[in-house]
Amino acid sequence: MGKVLIIGAGGVGTVVATKMAGLPEVFTEIMLASRTKSKCDVIADKIGNNRVKTAQVNADNVPELVELIKSFGPDIVVNVALPYQDLHIMDACLETGVAYLDTANYEPLDEAKYEYKWQWAYHDKFKDAGITAILGCGFDPGVTSIFTAHAAKHHFDEIQYLDIVDCNGGDHGKAFATNFNPEINIREVTQKGKFWENGEWVETEPHEIHKPLNYPNIGDRESYVIYHEELESLVKNYPTLKRARFWMTFGQEYLTHLRVIQNIGMAGIEPIMYEGKEIVPIQFLKAVLPNPGDLGENYTGETSIGCRIKGLKDGKEKTYYIYNNCSHQAAYEETGAQGVSYTTGVPATIGAMMYLQGLWKKAGVYNVEEFNPDPFMEKLNQLGLPWIEQHDVDLEL
Ligand code: NDP
Repeated sequence: MGKVLIIGAGGVGTVVATKMAGLPEVFTEIMLASRTKSKCDVIADKIGNNRVKTAQVNADNVPELVELIKSFGPDIVVNVALPYQDLHIMDACLETGVAYLDTANYEPLDEAKYEYKWQWAYHDKFKDAGITAILGCGFDPGVTSIFTAHAAKHHFDEIQYLDIVDCNGGDHGKAFATNFNPEINIREVTQKGKFWENGEWVETEPHEIHKPLNYPNIGDRESYVIYHEELESLVKNYPTLKRARFWMTFGQEYLTHLRVIQNIGMAGIEPIMYEGKEIVPIQFLKAVLPNPGDLGENYTGETSIGCRIKGLKDGKEKTYYIYNNCSHQAAYEETGAQGVSYTTGVPATIGAMMYLQGLWKKAGVYNVEEFNPDPFMEKLNQLGLPWIEQHDVDLEL
């Protein structure tokens, strides 16, 4: 059906390449490219399927990207490198007329902002060129936004209160490790909290609001309100929302490590001079922390991520909870990567499939909730991320 170029050979790239290789009727040709080609080769060898070609590319270099895209000729580029590369890859897609998909919004290297404004500014350019760009197609953002679209389409006349709840109930046996790229992860969880209420953003101190929430098959876990990027597009696309928040669970041990890392300056994103060389503390920290891609082997437990929604149906108040639980071990056995990479890589695969099948194709730059959720929801069930919905439940919120 189509050719795909995957950029980024980390945990998420591993899952995307593995899943796509298993769907030859959709992904007829696959190229996996990244800064370090040897990492692509290891993944391709493990897949053991000579349909996965590999290449070296520096995705910060637009002419290099353009050359690779022109020589391979993909129908879509799946960007699972880092958020810093988003705009460069979008520029290369524009220049070559190829569709674009990512899982995290653009972030400048020198400020942790989590805003869509840079990528939304490309809308008219993509529209005029007749090219589709699909933003935020991982789990959160991604599936959480599609869950919201599904709820709004099938179960509510008006959604009013949205709480996205993200629990990692897994145990990787390390004193401290992040589940995806440490630099991006630490930048995300150490920023101030922010949520939407009555038409405006309310800012909090980091981890200021917290309470235990009960997660299916996991139990009670302390959950913290943090800012997460899908809130920005969801409150724009669902203006009936009176409140939208994002909750994530953290263990005490994780928070203690995080506090120490911050207090000693290791989370810094400004370059410092060390022995005559400029280094960025958080990038150095990444080099000494466990590689998230290697956590899978001894990872036990599950993730549980979903949306708790309150709103109106037929004039009456209604509550609704939709979620997926994903086992780290099952994810590892299938793809060699842990659950967080799996829950990101499977939706990116499905998003690219939606595009190639012509189901999610419209010129411009769109967040995932702006497409029809139905075929995507069906594929989640078939491709390893089944969802469960509960009606009229205690949302605890
Ligand atoms: P990793 O750090 O494991 O992998 C990132 C990959 O991108 C590496 O192979 C890296 O290469 C490559 N890369 C980095 N810079 C460049 C560059 N300039 N040119 C080419 N390749 C580059 O990250 P993850 O796999 O954990 O995460 C991938 C993406 O998924 C991130 O953007 C992350 O934010 C996002 N994500 C989204 C989630 C969601 O639910 N929406 C959840 C989790 C992650 P090298 O090895 O050489 O450094």
